[in-house]
Formats: sequence, C-alpha cells, structure tokens
Amino acid sequence: MIEEKNGAVLLLSGPSGCGKSTLLKEVYKEISDYYFSISTTTRAPREGEVDGIDYFFVSKKEFLDDIKEGFFLEWAEVHGNYYGTSLKPIKKALALGKLVIFDIDVQGHEIVRKKISRQVTSVFITTPSLEVLENRLRSRNTDENDVIEKRLKNAKTEIKYFQKYDYFIVNDDLQIASKQLIAIANVCRIKAALFDNDKLIKDWYN
Ligand code: ADP
Ligand code: 5GP
Repeated sequence: MIEEKNGAVLLLSGPSGCGKSTLLKEVYKEISDYYFSISTTTRAPREGEVDGIDYFFVSKKEFLDDIKEGFFLEWAEVHGNYYGTSLKPIKKALALGKLVIFDIDVQGHEIVRKKISRQVTSVFITTPSLEVLENRLRSRNTDENDVIEKRLKNAKTEIKYFQKYDYFIVNDDLQIASKQLIAIANVCRIKAALFDNDKLIKDWYN
C-alpha cells in the first residue's frame, strides 16, 4: 500500500503588485496542509502588515548577522532592501509533509532551484501589461511614488526570467488566475520526483 506523504515547494515570483498575495488568499481557501514561508526583510512594514505574519521585520545589522550564521536558504537584495527565506521552519514543514509556499523574487528562485530543485514547482505571475501593473501598484496605495517607480523599473527586468519557471499565469481575471494557481498547487504534490523510489516499489510489492 502506498501511503507516502511528501513535502513539496510551491514557489511564486512576479513583479510586485501583480497579485501574488491576492491569489494566495484564494488558494488557501481550497487547499490544506500548507505552510507559507514567512520571509525576513529589512523593508519597513506597510500599514496593516504584522511582524511574524507578513514578514519578520529586522534591521540591516540583524539581517547581516543572520546571513553570517547561515540562517537563510536564500536571500537577495530587492528594490534596495534585503529579503531572505529562513531554512529551519522550511525543513520542519517539509519533514511534516506540508506544501511549503514561497513568494520570492527571481534571484531567490535561481538559488532555490540550485539547492532543492527536485521538490520545487515554480510559477511566474504577471499582469497583462506594465500599464496594468502600474495601475495596481498605485491603487493599492501602500507605496510612495519613488518606491513605485523602483518597482516598475525592476519589473521590466524580472519579466525576462519568466521562461525559467515551470508555469506562467497572467493575473487578469482574478477568478481564472486563481483557478489556475489552485490547479498547480494540487498537482505539484504528486510529482513523481517527490516519491522515494526504493521505498515506493517495496511498499507496492507488498
Ligand atoms: P503582490 O502580492 O504581487 O505584490 P497584491 O496581491 O498586493 O500584489 O496585489 C496588488 C493590487 O492589485 C492589490 O490592490 C490587489 O487588490 C489588486 N489585484 C490583484 N489581483 C487583481 C486582479 N486580477 N484584478 C484587479 N486587481 C487585482
Ligand atoms: P514586497 O516588498 O512587495 O513585499 O516584496 C518585494 C519583492 O521581494 C517581491 O518580488 C517578493 O517576491 C520578494 N521577496 C519577498 N520575500 C523574499 C525572500 O525571502 N527572498 C527573496 N529572494 N525575495 C523575496
């Protein structure tokens, strides 16, 4: 009897403002047994963001100390701030067979791919155009103009990486894009590479 429960990683990237957090909220309504990887950042909290829920907000010194101590699976400088994924909670969640969800940038994706490729399913998400992205960033009303300009400039570089990902979603109609992401979140848990070859065959024989 095959009863394996395997941890898997669902990694999302895409320009800031494309709708990753919004889409994830829809995914959470439909899946269970997941763990969202809370990143550590030196960015200041936005209004409404809570330390330990949205991010772990730390000083630059704390972040640099954490790098030295090997605290991160990956880290990167994005839009002038540091962001990193802590290793320990991820290892724990994977060992418990959870679906671990990352919302990280294209640099982080490259590193994670090199370190734990077998478990990872990656999705690049974007808006139908740069203009729509700008509208979303402005209507979200969480960032100053110079921050928005920086994010738009960065988006032009990030989009060039989309073919490095397993899947590509254009978040135009929220309902359609949510359905696509939910489908991926379900299917990424049954990737053949997640199963232990020898153990599975042995169990199957018996
Ligand atoms: P990200 O997490 O990628 O930075 P958000 O989820 O914060 O992006 O979304 C940015 C803004 O766009 C939010 O105001 C959100 O409500 C809005 N938004 C997200 N998806 C859509 C969509 N499909 N259509 C219209 N607006 C959207
Ligand atoms: P925001 O400041 O809008 O929350 O995030 C800005 C960017 O940083 C997004 O592209 C997001 O995916 C990325 N990001 C968030 N956490 C991490 C992380 O831990 N590592 C990396 N490499 N990027 C991250």
